[in-house]
Parts: sequence; C-alpha cells; structure tokens
Amino acid sequence: MNIGNRKSSITKSLLHWYKQKARPLPWRKTRNPYRILVSEVMLQQTQVSRVLQKYPEFLRLFPNFSSLAHARTADVIRAWSGMGYNNRAVRLQQVAKEIMNDNNGRLPSDIHILQKLPGIGRYTAHAVACFSFEQQTAVVDTNVRRILARLFPNRARSMDEWELAESVLPKRKAYEWNQALMELGSTFCTAAHPRCVDCPLKQYCPSAFQIRKPKKSYKRKNHRAMIPNRIYRGRIVALLRTMSRRQSIESNRLLHMIRPEARGQNQKWFSLVLTGLQRDGLIQIHSQKAKNFISLPK
Ligand code: SF4
Repeated sequence: MNIGNRKSSITKSLLHWYKQKARPLPWRKTRNPYRILVSEVMLQQTQVSRVLQKYPEFLRLFPNFSSLAHARTADVIRAWSGMGYNNRAVRLQQVAKEIMNDNNGRLPSDIHILQKLPGIGRYTAHAVACFSFEQQTAVVDTNVRRILARLFPNRARSMDEWELAESVLPKRKAYEWNQALMELGSTFCTAAHPRCVDCPLKQYCPSAFQIRKPKKSYKRKNHRAMIPNRIYRGRIVALLRTMSRRQSIESNRLLHMIRPEARGQNQKWFSLVLTGLQRDGLIQIHSQKAKNFISLPK
C-alpha cells in the first residue's frame, strides 16, 4: 500500500472509530472558549479521571472569565485542590484578568496572540484554536507525538513533530482528527503497553506488535532521599489551603510540618522553595518581629 492510500485508510478508520467509541467527555460537548481553556490547562499534567471530578466544580465556582478574574486568588488555589501543579491555577486567573482588561472578556482566536497569554504555550494555543474555534490546525501533545511516530516512523525521523502533524491533518476534520488521536493515545496506543491487538489502526500501523515493554527501573529505591521540590511545594500549598483566610503560619513551623525530618536544617533550601512559591503567586510572605509568616495570597 502506498503512503497516500495508507494515510487515507488511517484517517477513515480512526475517524470512524472515534465516532463510534469516543468517551463523552464534557469538554467535547462545548466550544465555549473559557470552558475549553480550563479543560486544557487542567489536562496538561493531570489524569482525565481526576479532571472529570474537578472540572464541573471549578466551572460552578468560576463559570466565566469575569468570575475567575474577580475571585480571590486564595479561593482559586483552594478550588484547584487535588489537581497538583498549583501554579496553573494562578496563571489561569492571570489569563482571565488579561482577557477582562484588554479584550472585553473575549479569548482571542489567533494562535500567536494566545501564546502571549500567561502560561499558554504552543500546545495550549493550538488546542484552544482547534477545539474552541474549530480552526484547521494540528495539535501536538505527548499522545499525538507518540502515535504519529508509530504510524509514520519514516516521516517522524526526517520531520519536525509539528510539521509531521500538519502534513497528515485531514482537510476540514482537524477537530475530530486531533481528538481521535488523543483518544487513541489514552485508550489503546499508550506509551508502555499499547494494545495493538484491539487497535482500530493495527492493519495500517508499521509499529503494530513491535513496541517492547520497557525494562523495570530501580530508580525508586532511594526515593525518600530524592523527593523533588514540587512535592514540598504541593505540601505547603495543601497545608495553607486548610487554614482560614486570616490565618498564616510561621515559616519554621511550616518547615517542621511539611518536612519533620529537617529539624532546623535546610533553612536555605526552604527559603528558596518559599521564594519560588511567592514568585509564582501561590503564597504571600510577611515579616513580623524578625519572623516570616506564610499564607495563601489574598
Ligand atoms: S497498532 Fe499498536 S502501535 Fe500502532 S497505533 Fe495501534 S496501538 Fe499504537
């Protein structure tokens, strides 16, 4: 089968499969720019199952750009509880503020303008353009990158991943195609254990039944000694969330609570972690009688 015929068979099979089997995810039932943006930011680093729980609640609390822009940042951070990578919540609110101040509450549809908004990178800008404004454009996330490299290995070796994604985009079907690739990536063509036997594309895929399972890694043996800073950042924000609006906590006490084994050491490290959180807009630090007190931002 030549590449043109194979590409056309892949498109037909994938779109047909997507039409029959796609999960009815709430962000697939809307084109509302705000709702699409919230779903994309949430899905960046969080599993679909967790986003499905948080998404309706977040939209109930902040149904549009205006309500999010005018909310207390502490409340937005609280509403993000359980999602991880809390700076996404702060950036989302910054986007809402910019949209309200500079664009009358309307999200721009131009990809280049979207990419200038806080925290919106190439992927998110293309995803919003395609999934909200139905623009004919490629969207490359880890799922899409992996599937295209498996389906078109020769092209993947010689082309940039975005160039490859654009080159196989079916005419007038960008929305369905991009959603279908993502659906396939999270249900069948997973990174470590692709289920080729049930895959709707196995007939046309040169990588079918070729992906070897990765060898077991023993890196986690010493994981207690290598807890990354993001875990401590998460612990700090989680603890501050439990406090009332007026409460704050003295920094040494906070260190003891999130890292009891530190016992007065690691002050320099902790001060860097706090500075990073403050820079990201996730905490507020105020000094009183030579002590630092930490709280969520107002
Ligand atoms: S056949 Fe296997 S490797 Fe190819 S797209 Fe399907 S799941 Fe992925």
